Amino acid sequence: MAFVLASNNPGKLREFEQLFTKLGFEVVPQAQFGVEDADETGLSFIENALIKARHASERTNQPAMADDSGIVVPALKGAPGIYSARYSGKGDAANNEKLLRALEGIEGAGRSAFYVAVIALVKHANDPMPVIAEGRWHGRIAKSQVGEGGFGYDPLFIPDGFKITAAQMTPDDKQALSHRAQALKALAPKLNGLQ
Ligand code: IMP
Repeated sequence: MAFVLASNNPGKLREFEQLFTKLGFEVVPQAQFGVEDADETGLSFIENALIKARHASERTNQPAMADDSGIVVPALKGAPGIYSARYSGKGDAANNEKLLRALEGIEGAGRSAFYVAVIALVKHANDPMPVIAEGRWHGRIAKSQVGEGGFGYDPLFIPDGFKITAAQMTPDDKQALSHRAQALKALAPKLNGLQ
């Protein structure tokens, strides 16, 4: 059985392939079918992951899956949330600056944050029983951007139990702990019986 992945990000493809190949499934990126990105019109990570998975399934007539991720700051009513990639409209560095400004004067628990990743998998475009898995990675927002690794909000995100930002971690350490890794771990047992 093969799943179309509604993403063309090579890093994500690698992470999905690692799990799915082990379980005997094939993963094919949607670009191989010429599928364009869906509009993310939902209000939650789950809705957007489902929109993307259903869109890929509808266009390819194959089972499909998608993930949606971002960073949530409860003190900011969940922002940047599902708008993480487009928070400032001007890319990663400007997103981080905007988040720092939004948290100016906020100390301690008010700087708590978590990354979230939701994976949605549908057996067909109108599947009424999608498989959903979620992972969270808790931490806090630093006072300034530190580190060159990772991407997105990593220079601002200090994971619980660490004194360094995610941008200072090795790729292997980050991949072992990340929200996406945790979502994939949660997904694995739900794939039994799909074949
Ligand atoms: P998407 O799920 O690829 O659309 O990612 C949404 C956005 O969330 C990214 O553009 C980043 O801004 C943010 N994000 C998601 N995962 C991470 C991560 O592991 N590190 C840093 N930023 C992330």
